[in-house]
Amino acid sequence: MESSEQRIKIAVQKTGRLTEHSQDMLERCGLKLTKSKDRLFCYGENMPIDLLLVRDDDIPGLVSEDVCDLGIVGLNVVEEKRLELEAEGREAMFSQVFALDFGHCRLSLAAPNENDYVDINSLENKRIATSYVHLLNDFLKKNSLQAETVYFSGAVEIAPKLGKADYICDLVSTGSTLEANGMQELDVLLDSEAVIIQTKAKLSDDKQALVSRILQRLDGVLQVRESKYIMLHAPRSALAEIRDLLPGSGLAHVRTLEWLMWQMGGVGPMIGQAHHFLFKPKVDVPYGKKRYHDETNRLYKVMNKRLDDVAYLAGENYSIADIATYPWVARFPRHQVDLNDYPSVKRWFDTVSERPAVEKGMAVPFLN
Ligand code: ATP
Ligand code: MG
Repeated sequence: MESSEQRIKIAVQKTGRLTEHSQDMLERCGLKLTKSKDRLFCYGENMPIDLLLVRDDDIPGLVSEDVCDLGIVGLNVVEEKRLELEAEGREAMFSQVFALDFGHCRLSLAAPNENDYVDINSLENKRIATSYVHLLNDFLKKNSLQAETVYFSGAVEIAPKLGKADYICDLVSTGSTLEANGMQELDVLLDSEAVIIQTKAKLSDDKQALVSRILQRLDGVLQVRESKYIMLHAPRSALAEIRDLLPGSGLAHVRTLEWLMWQMGGVGPMIGQAHHFLFKPKVDVPYGKKRYHDETNRLYKVMNKRLDDVAYLAGENYSIADIATYPWVARFPRHQVDLNDYPSVKRWFDTVSERPAVEKGMAVPFLN
């Protein structure tokens, strides 16, 4: 192992919303990681790169102070830190390299549903609770507004209920937390996503070369995501929809691939053989008929059991695993299966059949 001076340190969130994606992206760059016993580090086994696992708030500081060479963190945290340093008359010693297309959220103004907000001027002389004091003050200053900033380190959404604030300024992604607290989003201060930042400190030539290589690979990972879509000949306007069909990471990704592989290794080849022996065979082969008809029924049993528990093969969402499996099931008379014997498969089949795109696809003339 190289001396620690020659190893690159990347600060990533220890536990939270960015953790899984950050590690996943680095692993896609080819980095193999092992966690240290104290869970403070992940050591790169095959590259001189280690991860320092910390609270996300500490990441810009660690990179600025050159404790870490790179960091992966939300733009909201980066900007808050930059403004904090600026307020102290200090320069942020990190630069933002590029956005990583995960951790999307926005820093928004919100208020209880019954509020008299018209536009940002409604904030004048009001109290606004936030964890992002510098970003909020910067926004107020840019809009020449006077308002009182009330600092809350977490659970900002309870501030109005406690009578501590009239408005809040907090991170929102789906809006469900606001909704659950009887609040509505009024204005967006900042659109955020995870970004990679680099220290401004001068690195040795070897380290700089390694940093450039890892950044290049990260950029490659982002581009491959794009090219996967292009390989599917999809119009760009359909990318978001396609991404939902083939989730890029996490458990949904694993489950989708698992069931797609199950289709490719089981359903396709085995039901294909069943069709060969059962549907207008050139020669009657009882052994082949029984073998593949039995195997087909076994696959239906597996599918039925899975669909007893979840709506679609990969889980609660429609995915490419359903798209790949559906046309085989649609030929159930050919492989002599009665869908009534598999009620959950039937329920799934009927639901998928109703999708307009499926209807359109299945209406393409059947040639044999
Ligand atoms: P830590 O213990 O590391 O300080 P945290 O509680 O501050 O964790 P998380 O809630 O894990 O942070 O969020 C990390 C980042 O995820 C946020 O700074 C933001 O960039 C991004 N994010 C995406 N969606 C949301 C959301 N709905 N709420 C909060 N953060 C979000
Ligand atoms: Mg934090």
